[in-house]
Amino acid sequence: MTLQIAAGMVPLVIRARLAAGVAYAVPWGISLDGLLASEIRENTKTASKEAGTDYPPYSPDTVPEDLDLPLARCIGDGADGWHWAATFAYPEDEVPGPHVQYWSARPDQQALSQMAHRLPALVSERQGRYRSRVMPLPLTVCRHLVWRAVGQPAAVAALLEPIISIGKKRGTGNGHILSWEITEHPDADPWEFAHLHPGGKLGRTAPAACLHERGNLPTGGKGRMGLRPPYMHPSRRAPVLLPAT
Ligand SMILES: [Zn+2]
Repeated sequence: MTLQIAAGMVPLVIRARLAAGVAYAVPWGISLDGLLASEIRENTKTASKEAGTDYPPYSPDTVPEDLDLPLARCIGDGADGWHWAATFAYPEDEVPGPHVQYWSARPDQQALSQMAHRLPALVSERQGRYRSRVMPLPLTVCRHLVWRAVGQPAAVAALLEPIISIGKKRGTGNGHILSWEITEHPDADPWEFAHLHPGGKLGRTAPAACLHERGNLPTGGKGRMGLRPPYMHPSRRAPVLLPAT
């Protein structure tokens, strides 16, 4: 058994009902462990602010500590390559795309003049750092986002409950969540729920050791990426198998 499962942890399906769709920057979905870790961090920040104390800021130069998530762990390669027992998001009832929104932005000349001591005669909108932009925003349009995990259902639910939107460009209504639903599957295979999307493809980043003796599972190939939150931190990068798309 490569999973470390604490008392009260069971295989779970977590389902977020979406108002419309969600905007991602990468070809695969948002990680459940990342979502839980950022929520714990937000709670810690709020508590520190209320108590008037400092919290350690995020920095690419310091190795971040691993937060204690209410999830089982997969020992992975048996050394530092361990990961939480949870997948990335999987779109259910997806409307086939591509769906692309565009947003545009231009510098506010009045605001620039208030902020800067001396401005050039013209801040060009056509070139340079302050040029105006039109940016594509790829959308995943689906009814639900689904994650599989092994964890403590009540603790996972308590952390997810306050999250009302996920993904990019949330301020403009993307990724709005109508409700969370968590179902327990005590008879399911914990290894499968820790690694695979419904349908049996690799559903998260994993060291190659995780898939030994599991046959030829569909994956997204080899790459360097984070194994656990904070996924984008340089110290988290490792040679992994990528999720299948
Ligand atoms: Zn694993």
